[in-house]
Amino acid sequence: QKLGWAVVGLGQFATEQIMPSFGECKRSRLVALVSGDRAKAERYARQYGVNPQNIYNYQNYETIRDNPEVDVVYIVLPNGMHAEYTIRGARAGKHVMCEKPMATSVAECQAMIDAARQAGKKLMIAYRAQYEPYNLAAIDLARGPRKELGKLKAIVADHGRIVKPSEPQDRWRIDKKLAGGGSLPDIGIYSLNAARYITGEEPIEVSAMLYSTPNDPRFVEVEENVNFMLRFPSGVLANCTSSYGYSDTKRIQVFGSEGTLELSPATDYYQHRLFVEKGKVREERNIDEKNQFALEIDHLSESIVQNRKPKTPGEEGLQDIRLIQTIYEAARTGRKIQLEPMQPPRNER
Ligand code: NAD
Repeated sequence: QKLGWAVVGLGQFATEQIMPSFGECKRSRLVALVSGDRAKAERYARQYGVNPQNIYNYQNYETIRDNPEVDVVYIVLPNGMHAEYTIRGARAGKHVMCEKPMATSVAECQAMIDAARQAGKKLMIAYRAQYEPYNLAAIDLARGPRKELGKLKAIVADHGRIVKPSEPQDRWRIDKKLAGGGSLPDIGIYSLNAARYITGEEPIEVSAMLYSTPNDPRFVEVEENVNFMLRFPSGVLANCTSSYGYSDTKRIQVFGSEGTLELSPATDYYQHRLFVEKGKVREERNIDEKNQFALEIDHLSESIVQNRKPKTPGEEGLQDIRLIQTIYEAARTGRKIQLEPMQPPRNER
């Protein structure tokens, strides 16, 4: 039996990656659409066999409460709208999947967590890499029972791309209110989240440097580049970069006493490559590519049916937003910031 999902916001990512992936889901099906553009929604409803009576807009979104076919709402709107639509969805009695970054402030994240808890509904943040087989293999190499890399010492993670406001999906990304920040919450968050899931730890010290090309109209409100360093309780140091100015890069490297791994591309949609180097021998590990979107969507459906906390709950998204704010603060003040030790909010199982 499959749970019914509504996709909220029919932009590039929703229509090109998420909606087609329902075809590969085993426990989830697309049953409703929420959009400000009725004609566009009707077109996609025809394409995906969605009942046109299950098309909602941003005004009548709450009436989804009366539709028993919908179990989950999936928020794929600009970042600045995540909190509002997550909270309205939970209050309408639906479980929520919300895209990364969770929201634009710690207070918004907390309000989202509280709304889901009060409604007795699950909240999961769509950290697709944590469901993707190559990244899971890297986690296993780094901290699985075989400890193939030995004792971990360092992580280098780089995520960047050129932001192009001529494209509609990049227009809101340079608007601070809708995006919450620049490259860091959009793409650098993959470097940050990877440092956390590779170590399985939470950082206790943060330093950072930020730079945007002067007079570039794209970077009036949001940042271009942020480099940040994290220190973890085990002693692992992570060097991470985030950029809207360098060409497409999605790479994670992990250095241990017995070997190193390189995942590049690390967080692509469909193509990953994993290399392990020990001594002078470098070998490529081939793993079955799977549809990570279908895996993460089904993970939430399964968590709902089994009444378990998802692996990447709201608290996982909140921790990244808290760290993003700390990275900005460290860059602004030029100070190293110490953080209280804490357990990862991830639900590993
Ligand atoms: P997009 O601009 O293509 O989609 C946003 C949608 O929201 C559009 O359909 C737009 O019409 C709608 N919208 C409603 N109100 C709006 C407003 N006031 N301003 C702008 N748009 C408005 O963007 P996208 O790239 O699809 O990103 C959507 C979300 O998905 C973001 O949160 C982004 O971070 C996330 N995303 C995640 C991944 C991933 O790999 N997990 C990849 C891309 C995007």
